Amino acid sequence: MFEVYEREHVTCVEIEVPNLPNLFFFVTDGMLVDTGAQKFEAKIISYLKEASFDVVALTHSHEDHSGTAPWIQENLNIPIYLSPLGIDICSQLAPYPKYRREIWGIRKEFAPLPISDRIQSRKRQWKVMHTPGHADDHIALLDDDTGTLFSGDLFVSPKTKVIMKSESIPQIIDSIRTVLTHDFGSMFCCHAGYIQDGKGRMKRKLEYLENLCGEVKHLEQNGLSVEEIDQKIFRKKYPITFVSEGEWDSLHIITSIIGAENR
Ligand SMILES: [Zn+2]
Repeated sequence: MFEVYEREHVTCVEIEVPNLPNLFFFVTDGMLVDTGAQKFEAKIISYLKEASFDVVALTHSHEDHSGTAPWIQENLNIPIYLSPLGIDICSQLAPYPKYRREIWGIRKEFAPLPISDRIQSRKRQWKVMHTPGHADDHIALLDDDTGTLFSGDLFVSPKTKVIMKSESIPQIIDSIRTVLTHDFGSMFCCHAGYIQDGKGRMKRKLEYLENLCGEVKHLEQNGLSVEEIDQKIFRKKYPITFVSEGEWDSLHIITSIIGAENR
């Protein structure tokens, strides 16, 4: 499935991914936000050839967001912006494990430009918010005038049950709090797509994560080990934990919460 549709002046491109949530990227006011994964390059490139955009913003360097950026750089004379923290990662050929190469394809090396605290599309200016936690180089983009938010992978799902080893729940909580200090309405998430009541949904995710932290800390104070807390709260392991050989695991949620506490 490869669908293109409009929501509130944003073109949403939705790609079905086997056994995983769908993948999205967006175009608005001549700005491409993320580029999809190299695995789906054939369809994405034929779309990009017809699409009207003159600047690219990447919400972070992960391969499902930056997969066709090398093609854009080689074939279209369009600047690609990313957090300065992600530029080094993009200079490497597919710097991620085999199972991710199989799911998302091989992202070639490319050279994005460092984004500052604002980015200009044709008629709009977007606030760039540094929102680490899912990735160190993660940003969110906000247009104050329309209240439109591109949230990258900050939201993804209302109740996070597995994260990557490199992720941090306390940092994600801080980043959500940062975003919530601003007014926004519609939110465009790279795995959940268009969400009309973005701020409401983001608030509920924050509540879930805060409660989760409280529960984890309470169980830790009662003397439970990390593994015991994980089993008590999450009960079962998801297939992605086995497929990824542990890079995705609910256990990382517990260790990131307890680690921050003991720091
Ligand atoms: Zn990501």
